Amino acid sequence: MRIVVPAGGVGGARFLRGLKAAAPEAKITVIGNTGDDITLFGLRVCPDLDTVMYTLGGGINEQQGWGRAGEGFAVREELAAYGVEPQWFTLGDRDIATHIVRTQMLGAGYPLSAVTEALCDRWRPGVRLLPMSDDRVETHVVVDDPDGGRRAIHFQEWWVRHRAGLPAHEIVAVGAERAAPAPGVLAAIEEADAVLLPPSNPVVSVGTILQVPGIREAMERRPVVGVSGIIGGSPVHGMADACLSAIGVESSARAVAEHYGSALLDGWLVDEADAGVAAEPGPGLDGIAVRAVPLYMSDLEATAAIARAALDLAAERR
Ligand code: GDP
Ligand code: CA
Repeated sequence: MRIVVPAGGVGGARFLRGLKAAAPEAKITVIGNTGDDITLFGLRVCPDLDTVMYTLGGGINEQQGWGRAGEGFAVREELAAYGVEPQWFTLGDRDIATHIVRTQMLGAGYPLSAVTEALCDRWRPGVRLLPMSDDRVETHVVVDDPDGGRRAIHFQEWWVRHRAGLPAHEIVAVGAERAAPAPGVLAAIEEADAVLLPPSNPVVSVGTILQVPGIREAMERRPVVGVSGIIGGSPVHGMADACLSAIGVESSARAVAEHYGSALLDGWLVDEADAGVAAEPGPGLDGIAVRAVPLYMSDLEATAAIARAALDLAAERR
């Protein structure tokens, strides 16, 4: 069985851990979001790719859900002592080694897909991890400028520095319309028995991946089942609701499914708290099979059960 999962960071990686347990024999291809990528101190940082790689490869800080286990912060302290900005983005010493390797390889002319493959040689995540594109796509958020008017800031500045607290007028994946899917992305989708949308951020993670020309279209031809990241009207944790409201989508399991649309989704899993959506999907969800199952990724077993439910629904819709 071949499965494709377009994934962001923390939520995507947790789901993937459950999927690997649920389908140990499956060939899983992960299409990682790179819209969050940022260059800091001259280093190219790919937060979502690294979160998936560390989580599945056994290097993640389990409590935090991102960053390295056993991390130290000597470099960060030294940079702060020099007064070097930005200080709002945490880069640990072990993590920095990853970014040095990546930056060196990119500088030598390797595309991000080749760099990611090289990094995964060490981590052996048990999935094929592909960036959505080798081309640069950068998610920007349009906010009010304190000096009047509006300005666009990097997604990480909005998300990490401002904790998504500045009202967002618009979220733009700059460069997406000109980006090409990375080598292997479209072929993996075309060969997939199922495409599973994890409960990653539907706007800035899955939404960004879907904006790379060709990816959504290829997925529309496959059985696609999504897992709602919204339970009972709110994101389980995190600030996904700030992103949804920026694009005018209500924070509800129903509205997110409508936003993805029936051309893409064949099936949609909602939590039992949203069983009403499964009982009465309504015209907006025409053509989408909605199923209510427990969706809290509380431990590996619960997460594997979610993945199994998604695979079952995809098989029904094939
Ligand atoms: P990313 O989008 O994968 O980078 O990860 P984030 O951690 O930023 O966002 C993940 C999203 O997953 C959150 O905004 C929530 O909506 C959702 N989420 C987090 N924990 C759970 C969970 O236990 N169950 C479900 N169904 N969704 C979750
Ligand atoms: Ca992310």
